[in-house]
Amino acid sequence: MNWFNKAWNQRDNKKQLPKKGKANYDSKLADKDIKYCPTCRVCWEWSYQSSKLYVERYKDFVGYGKIKQVCTMCIAKKGEEKNEQG
Ligand SMILES: [Zn+2]
Repeated sequence: MNWFNKAWNQRDNKKQLPKKGKANYDSKLADKDIKYCPTCRVCWEWSYQSSKLYVERYKDFVGYGKIKQVCTMCIAKKGEEKNEQG
C-alpha cells in the first residue's frame, strides 16, 4: 500500500498551499514606503500598475513621521526652472 500512502501525502501537501491575502487599502496607507514631499506637501509613493511604474499621490494624507523626499513632479519642475535660467 506504499503507492497509496505516497499519493495521499502528495494530495495533502497540495492542499496546504498558502493563500495570498487581499491587499488592504488602509494598511497600504500606513506603509513605510510612503514619502512626504515638503515642496508640494503631498504624500506619495511608487506604485505599479500593469507592470508600469508610476507615482501615486495621496492628497489630504498626514505626512507626519513620513520620510521627506521631493516627489518626481517637483523634481521635474525644478529641472524646468534650471533650464530657463540656463
Ligand atoms: Zn512634490
